Amino acid sequence: MKSNFQVLNGIPASAGIAIGKAVLLERRKIDKFPRIRIPERLVEEEIKRFDAAVEASYNQIEKAKQKLEDQDVIKEHSFILETHLMMLKDPAFTNRVKYLIRKQLINAEWALKIALMEIEENFDRIGDEYIKSRAADTTFVGDRILRNLTGKEIGHFHIPENSIIVAHDLSPADTAMLNKERVLGFATDIGGLTSHTAIIARSLEIPAVVGLETVSLSISPGTLLILDGITGTVIVNPSESQVEDYRHRAESYITYELKIKERANEPAVTLDGYHVSVEGNLEFKEEVHSVLEHGAEGIGLYRTEFIYLNRDDIPTEDDHFEAYKTVVEAVTPYNTIIRTLDLGGDKFYSVMGNLQKEMNPAIGLRAIRFCLKEVNIFKTQLRGILKASNYGKASIMFPMISGFEELSRAKDILEEVKEELRQQDIAFDEQIKVGIMIEIPSAAIISDILAKEVDFFSIGTNDLIQYAIAIDRRNEYVDYLYEPLHPAVLRLIKYTIDAGHKEGITVGMCGEMAGRSIYTPILLGLGIDSLSTNALAIPHIKDIARRINLKRCMEITSHILDMRTANDVREFMNNEVKNSPELCDIVETDRDV
Ligand code: PEP
Ligand code: MG
Repeated sequence: MKSNFQVLNGIPASAGIAIGKAVLLERRKIDKFPRIRIPERLVEEEIKRFDAAVEASYNQIEKAKQKLEDQDVIKEHSFILETHLMMLKDPAFTNRVKYLIRKQLINAEWALKIALMEIEENFDRIGDEYIKSRAADTTFVGDRILRNLTGKEIGHFHIPENSIIVAHDLSPADTAMLNKERVLGFATDIGGLTSHTAIIARSLEIPAVVGLETVSLSISPGTLLILDGITGTVIVNPSESQVEDYRHRAESYITYELKIKERANEPAVTLDGYHVSVEGNLEFKEEVHSVLEHGAEGIGLYRTEFIYLNRDDIPTEDDHFEAYKTVVEAVTPYNTIIRTLDLGGDKFYSVMGNLQKEMNPAIGLRAIRFCLKEVNIFKTQLRGILKASNYGKASIMFPMISGFEELSRAKDILEEVKEELRQQDIAFDEQIKVGIMIEIPSAAIISDILAKEVDFFSIGTNDLIQYAIAIDRRNEYVDYLYEPLHPAVLRLIKYTIDAGHKEGITVGMCGEMAGRSIYTPILLGLGIDSLSTNALAIPHIKDIARRINLKRCMEITSHILDMRTANDVREFMNNEVKNSPELCDIVETDRDV
């Protein structure tokens, strides 16, 4: 039978292949709602109506949270719903809506929409992709209140067997209410790798493609779909031969995943006996168990800025301490590298509205620069880290170090904090190791000098690449220039590793490049000691490392360091992979290639 198939491309958010029928979930934002001016005598009644909608929303989310907690695999993510509940209880938000009703004499829907727009505008100024995607929290909460005000609450859906859920976006509450047994995949219009749909789909190990732009508008319910969460492709109305082909791919993918998962907890040792430590990146303390279950030999990067999210106040020493202690206790006997705050510029907007908006926040007052200016905030965090170091193995890492003075100043402050703790008889690990991220070209170029001052380096390729090639990693117009294989990037990495090793310190990598298997042979060949990445990539990277020979990797890298362009390097690598029986099936199974 002839088929008019259509291929849609999005972001691969959760790996795996699903073949099933589309079920459309109406989660489009409500744009049409009554905008009514009200007489003053109706103000109190309108406020009561708003309060009732907030209360109804609270009860619904509480119920969804309960449901999420009853499902073992995703109960860790019920904290996302907790943040939604917090927002509903936040007087700064609800009072703003009531103020607008009173002052502007408008109905609750209208006032709510204005208050939400104000919050969303603030989020728009935030540079970080992850933090930006947390703006979705506001949208979900606002949407739910609006649905309760307008009576458009979504009902319970009948999900037939073998369904692929297609939606504009999915809130955690929606996901909690779905019957997981019947859902084979998720496809959404919006979202990125760190959107809720992506996070929850990965936890449930259900394939997902997000950022498909208009998928929820362009297909009808019941349409047959192939969803490939490895490449980010959705085939609408596939032919029989396409279905057959993808059934085979799905089978070999499942076999491969099962195989690598079985060995996830074994160390990654190359064929010629070199052990590369494969570690996990962590954003929320709640994710620590999942990272460890995927075989992490420690936490190579704990991004602590997430402690600052979803709150109006600045975290206290206890907030820091509690979070780090939880993680350190769970990860010990492995080590946890706690990175000090990497926020600043307008990323602080939600917590510190008084900070000036910067023209170019990526190269502005962020990370260690901000901490050296706001020393009290920095010291509070350092106290929390040091106190937690008494409960297991922890190290401190400073981000965005650009030169010697900055590092010296940061270390001096650390010494001051240690001395204060000693004076107060508060225990901490006196031997705690201190390292820095190498993510600014100036630091890479003087890494021989910096290596004498610290215990370890961790290369942050996300920033190192953007600063080395002078491209904004969030700007879609120059996205094509974002190139980990650029010879300049490879040389900066090589120089840093060699400089570190010369001083006898370890050099790891915690940027995205560390989690992409096509780069693993190159990074091992360059001499990297550890690779830290997201949970799902850990078994995969370990698997690749076990198939290769370090000596061969070193030969490969000696060739590529002299190449002129990233394309030359890529072509050479692709040929290498094709001609190496032990690497061949990387191409078949590699989610990056
Ligand atoms: C990096 O820059 O590579 C890194 C790991 O830090 P972040 O992505 O948090 O800036
Ligand atoms: Mg960085």
